Amino acid sequence: MKKIMVLPGDGIGPEIVNETLKVMDFFIEKSNLEISYDFGDIGGIAIDKYGIPLKDETLEMCKNSDAVLLGAVGGPKWETTEPGKPRPEDALLKVRKEMSLFANLRPVKIYKSLIDSSTLKKEVIEGVDILVLRELTGGIYFGKRERIIADDDVFAYDTELYHLYEIERIVKLAFETARLRRKKVTSVDKANILESSRLWRETVNRIHKNYSDIELNHMYVDNTSMQLIRNPKQFDVIVTSNMFGDILSDETAMISGSIGLLPSASLGDNNSGMYEPIHGSAPDIQGTGKANPIAQILSLAMLFRYSLGFKKEADIIEIAVEKVLEKGYRTPDIYAAKGQLVNTKEIGGLIMDEIKEAI
Ligand code: NAD
Repeated sequence: MKKIMVLPGDGIGPEIVNETLKVMDFFIEKSNLEISYDFGDIGGIAIDKYGIPLKDETLEMCKNSDAVLLGAVGGPKWETTEPGKPRPEDALLKVRKEMSLFANLRPVKIYKSLIDSSTLKKEVIEGVDILVLRELTGGIYFGKRERIIADDDVFAYDTELYHLYEIERIVKLAFETARLRRKKVTSVDKANILESSRLWRETVNRIHKNYSDIELNHMYVDNTSMQLIRNPKQFDVIVTSNMFGDILSDETAMISGSIGLLPSASLGDNNSGMYEPIHGSAPDIQGTGKANPIAQILSLAMLFRYSLGFKKEADIIEIAVEKVLEKGYRTPDIYAAKGQLVNTKEIGGLIMDEIKEAI
């Protein structure tokens, strides 16, 4: 029996997780998949209930599961600049670190039927297929940070720190993954300024010697942010540090039309992983029925594929999403004045209908 830990979180998290669990329940019942799942609180809801964003007990349940399905965390209610105050996002960083989930995979795919939803021109985005591989447990999000209040000054600092082993394992994964795709890796850094980037670049070049079949190029992060908009088709696998990956993958998401479409997988050395949409808790649309559950549903497909080995079911989910989009159903984020406007539950139901038909 495979165990999944479900953490709906805050904002639209519970709404989109709800639609996703309908898909999981269906497969458990109809395909006899041996899956059981438990729920836990994470983020703002856990702060409200327990004063901390993640209880040790919930973390233990995550570590003992085969995979974690996460909605999103955060919202204005818990935003604070006060040092030491609990923050919803701290829980995410803790799960990633404690489960050693060092690689975040963010595939970006263009649906033909949604080509008009992108803010970019059709000829620029047609055929784009990018995998952003973001380092997840090192760098500035985990380095030492502090705010100093002195008599005559107030200052704050954050530290970008990378160990060699942290760079090596993500870079190897990038080359391995590229072998299964179009055999091209772009390593993104800021080696003209940052020492940590120079170590990154040196390491990439050294490891590349074992992957001579893969084309490698290095690109500075500022240029990458421009190239992604100018000519996204030049990219296959992008590998980069934690913060650069965080920023660039949101930019890449917009090529596809909406942040509400893109799933992600965070993986470690074994099969266990955490699966979540790349977007946040979208508090601005919470409770309105406007949330697009597709990124969350596709996160379940990734969970099936990478952590549980249920490839057939993953394919069925992905094809169902594609069909619903081809038939013209649209949540507001991808509407672009064409097709039939539907809400969160309706599009979830339509995806379920396609899945049922495929079984
Ligand atoms: P966001 O991704 O939540 O929202 C950005 C914009 O995209 C908003 O206009 C939102 O309505 C829209 N959007 C996002 N997901 C959507 C969906 N599924 N369907 C339709 N529209 C969608 O980013 P933000 O507004 O910068 O952050 C809101 C909160 O989420 C903050 O507290 C932030 O810290 C948190 N956050 C959490 C995660 C996470 O849980 N992994 C990631 C990013 C941000």
